[in-house]
Amino acid sequence: MEMFDVIIVGAGAAGLFCAAQAGQQGLNVLLLDNGKKPGRKILMSGGGRCNFTNLYIEPAAYLSNNPHFCKSALARYTQWDFIDLVGRYHIGWHEKTLGQLFCDESAQQIVDMLLSECDKGGVTVRMRSEVLNTERSEAGYRLTLNGGVVHAPALVIASGGLSMPGLGASPFGYKIAEAFGLNVLPTRAGLVPFTLHKPQLEQLRTLSGVSVEAMVSAENGVSFRENILFTHRGLSGPAILQISSYWRPGEKVIINLLPDQEVDAFLQTRRASNPDQSVKNALSQLLPKRLVDILQVTGDIPDITLKQLSPRDRVAIAQRLHGWKVQPNGTEGYRTAEVTLGGVDTRALSSRTMEARDAPGLFFIGEVVDVTGWLGGYNFQWAWSSAWACAQALGAR
Ligand code: FAD
Repeated sequence: MEMFDVIIVGAGAAGLFCAAQAGQQGLNVLLLDNGKKPGRKILMSGGGRCNFTNLYIEPAAYLSNNPHFCKSALARYTQWDFIDLVGRYHIGWHEKTLGQLFCDESAQQIVDMLLSECDKGGVTVRMRSEVLNTERSEAGYRLTLNGGVVHAPALVIASGGLSMPGLGASPFGYKIAEAFGLNVLPTRAGLVPFTLHKPQLEQLRTLSGVSVEAMVSAENGVSFRENILFTHRGLSGPAILQISSYWRPGEKVIINLLPDQEVDAFLQTRRASNPDQSVKNALSQLLPKRLVDILQVTGDIPDITLKQLSPRDRVAIAQRLHGWKVQPNGTEGYRTAEVTLGGVDTRALSSRTMEARDAPGLFFIGEVVDVTGWLGGYNFQWAWSSAWACAQALGAR
């Protein structure tokens, strides 16, 4: 049996960073993963350029049953700390939009940086490691692996959520939590495209590939203003991914297709200058023509000229374009979701250390915990911050 100070399961964003930080404090760390390569989601992220953090990190950008839980870790290890680390490795980066920071070159640089940090901490990294059994021992935790038995007084679970099983996602962390008596909140896919009911999908089919900037709102009032994208399966694009985390089955989403325009006033002005123009052609000045065509087919826009428009018609069109209601059939699920909502109940954990209150020496970090960020670098920052908080606690034990 091999002895370590800490065993970390999951060599993703949180596990790699926690291992490096703990190792650099002099701890003997074993980092395990069942995959072939560490940091697979990092490599896939941000279109291969990894949106590694956001300039505007704030607790309000995270969903959790306990919205206060993330505050401590995010305040103690901030986006500026991670930006500083990236700077020390001379990794070029840029802000794309809305504070989202991406590597200039490649996400591989972030993985290489994390592996170098692990090297500095003397971390033992073992890929293709299956955990066959986990049990409590007198002095900590004993794990039976496909390659032998390992033991440590501290065990950190950083095995992530359920999204993208193709990249190694598994329910391992939830099972361990339950086995040690921690509550696990129901999980669901987040940051995920919507699918539509067949009749609506048929109606919108010709829009596949069309993108518009819109304000999208959930029934609970949360809104995001970014692009929406019509796809052959339904709706996607950043605004849709964001709102999907707030959407519940059976609910509608409300799409303001022209958040910067007063449609009523626009139609009135156009009517004065060009009364014989069709409503459809007038609105094609503001929206993609293919979308306007469809809105006419669906009856949201009448097939008449501007001079035939009554004030009531104008108000009705404005209401529809500013509040186009769509009822998704569902989401594309974990197959394409960027994150998993829900997970290990934060009430079972210390927000300062990530340690389970009733299972000393057992820690949960990253996405396996019921803390889920918005699109735009927020999820990696949670991985870095929660990992750092955990590593500090490991060093202080
Ligand atoms: P993960 O990074 O998922 O790592 C978990 C690790 O545990 C994996 O290596 C897995 O192989 C391993 N594991 C799982 N089960 C076992 C087991 N039984 N035994 C051993 N090992 C196991 N977030 C952002 O902030 N910015 C982005 O640009 C971004 N882009 C994304 C793009 C895609 C395609 C996806 C899917 C997600 C993206 N995310 C992004 C979300 C982000 O990747 C995750 O929130 C983050 O990786 C979570 O880190 P983690 O360490 O908790 O889990």
